[in-house]
Amino acid sequence: MSKRDFYEVLGVSKNASEDEIKKAYRKLARKYHPDVNKDDPSAEAKFKEVTEAYEVLSDQEKRARYDQFGHADPGAGFGGGAGAGGFGDFGGGFGDIFDMFFGGGGRQRGPRRGADLQYNLQISLEDAFRGIERELDIPRTEECPTCHGSGAKPGTHPQTCSVCRGTGMQEQVVNTPLGRMVNRRPCTACGGDGQIIKDPCNECRGEGKVKVRKRINVKIPAGVDTGNRIRISGGGEAGDKGAPPGDLYIVIYVQEHEFFERDGDDLFCRVPISFVQAALGDEIEVQTLDGKVKLRIPEGTQTGTSFRLRGKGMPQLNSSRHGDQHVRVVVLTPTDLTEKQKDLLRQLGDEIGVKPNEQQKTFFEKVKDAAKDALNWD
Ligand SMILES: [Zn+2]
Ligand SMILES: [Zn+2]
Repeated sequence: MSKRDFYEVLGVSKNASEDEIKKAYRKLARKYHPDVNKDDPSAEAKFKEVTEAYEVLSDQEKRARYDQFGHADPGAGFGGGAGAGGFGDFGGGFGDIFDMFFGGGGRQRGPRRGADLQYNLQISLEDAFRGIERELDIPRTEECPTCHGSGAKPGTHPQTCSVCRGTGMQEQVVNTPLGRMVNRRPCTACGGDGQIIKDPCNECRGEGKVKVRKRINVKIPAGVDTGNRIRISGGGEAGDKGAPPGDLYIVIYVQEHEFFERDGDDLFCRVPISFVQAALGDEIEVQTLDGKVKLRIPEGTQTGTSFRLRGKGMPQLNSSRHGDQHVRVVVLTPTDLTEKQKDLLRQLGDEIGVKPNEQQKTFFEKVKDAAKDALNWD
């Protein structure tokens, strides 16, 4: 199984900035999030691939190592959270050399740490604004309570493997063009465990682990965004006896909102006003995530003008600061007018002498700034 290049996965260039990588990741995370792709089973694999690529490229140190070594970096363990024994991921030419010393992609010596788990959590924008506490039901493996992880029936004990004398490894001296080398491979008698269980525990059938559903309470901090991950240390799968469990990663997906669009800490919305309000000015009520606030519309406001409500955007993670809310007014042209209303408008038109063609030039001067502003985020 060859891995795709991380830059290719995110669709960014090798010298992409941190910001570009973040943006590309958010976009793909939204697209492939399993919760919005329930009919497409391949989405989860893509989501994991994207998450893994981001995990490496968003970390300066890991990215530098990846640039230097690619997927073959022996020190980084880019196993995508697979945790234990992740030697299967070495690509191409490195395989042979590592076969010699590590036993052909087999088990590492010693008890293995449990695998990491990923849980995809979908929350509303309101929840992301306030922060919430959620009770999650996580299927995972835990140490078997009957045998306490040994895998042996209570009262019995695993026996030390007589073939490898408990080391889990068999050594063989081989002649190579480079000289004599020691080839080590997992013990065929015990499968690398170093132990043999004669009387397996009934509850876990000798595995030492059982499947459970674990209820945990998770605090989601205010200001989270799609793609943010919360790590629950030790919340993953149980490890081998004597080894720690893996970690649990909760990956956040913030749902689209019907009224607000979000960009980082800023929120954007559109509010309709009447042409009378636009011409004469008015005070209107605007919905924010923290209740309604009043906004003054100045006299002579053009459609598309954007107003900034400072500090009414999303909270910043781990900070007391908030982004802004940008309110763009859309002037509504009245429809279904009565004859009387039409007459009044005609009178008004005669009074102010509306001649659209002559007015166009000054009109465009006036809305230029508003339009520029609008183009930035539409
Ligand atoms: Zn057991
Ligand atoms: Zn053995």
